[in-house]
Amino acid sequence: MTAEVLVAGSINADLVVPVDRRPGAGETVLGGDTELLPGGKGANTAVAASLLGAQVAMVGAIGDDANGRLLLGALREAGVRVDLVRTADRPTGAAYIVVTPDGENSILVSPGANSALEPSALDGAFDDARVLAVSMEIPLPTVEHAVIAASEAGVRVLLNLSPVAKVSERALAAVDVLLVNEHEAAWLLGDADADPRVLLELGPFSAVLTRGARGALVITEDGTTEVPSPEVEAVDTTGAGDAFTGALAASLAEGATLVDAARLAVKVAAISVTRSGAQPSYPRAGEID
Ligand code: ATP
Repeated sequence: MTAEVLVAGSINADLVVPVDRRPGAGETVLGGDTELLPGGKGANTAVAASLLGAQVAMVGAIGDDANGRLLLGALREAGVRVDLVRTADRPTGAAYIVVTPDGENSILVSPGANSALEPSALDGAFDDARVLAVSMEIPLPTVEHAVIAASEAGVRVLLNLSPVAKVSERALAAVDVLLVNEHEAAWLLGDADADPRVLLELGPFSAVLTRGARGALVITEDGTTEVPSPEVEAVDTTGAGDAFTGALAASLAEGATLVDAARLAVKVAAISVTRSGAQPSYPRAGEID
């Protein structure tokens, strides 16, 4: 079996509850009905890439429980290969999300099985891969190992540094495309007004900065290219960054240039924000103009 795109990252059950207001310390608040949705940055990325037609394999971990089976089913249904998903001796990761009427959410993540994803999960995974897309929410040593091992195997590495964390210089130097949003870039550069081109000084070959409704900025040693987003009416931006990551990985695996891959990614992410949820909002290749 071949997979062009390998995705290493988290697999979570998103438990979403609408509330009039979020509870304070020691307080109980009654909310609306719970919605159980497939999520996790890794799984979202894998689904987004697969729906666009890439052959995708997921590297991740779930627990031996009902949520794990549900999430595996969602990945399979989207066409993602799951034979590299391990079953850990921990509960499946979960995100408890309360959403207030103004659309703001508060999220508590219980990583569970994602915390048990060891570097060895990548052993033998790179055979036919062209691109590895890695996101955080899994142990840092696993992220760093994945990046370095993929680069040594000649696989292009896309690191979505979200949630942002301090990654070793050696790993950053093995990254082909560092993908960050504006908050993550500000954290890395220590200054919200810093020139984004400085991201390359951290070690990656190139970088993509996502800028919400404004689209993205592609940064290479040759200069920067603005990739504006199509104008859309945003309904729910949950998982937009993961849609962008999956589309970028799928397009790079097809041999597109980074700028052309970013042009596809802004279209895919723009469609995703016009629909509710993360994975259910992602378009198939045929839906993109
Ligand atoms: P999220 O946390 O919502 O998944 P993010 O914070 O990681 O996203 P953003 O830069 O906010 O990253 O969004 C990622 C991409 O999604 C943007 O580059 C853009 O292409 C698209 N996007 C986000 N918000 C909008 C919007 N309101 N209209 C159009 N496109 C959007």
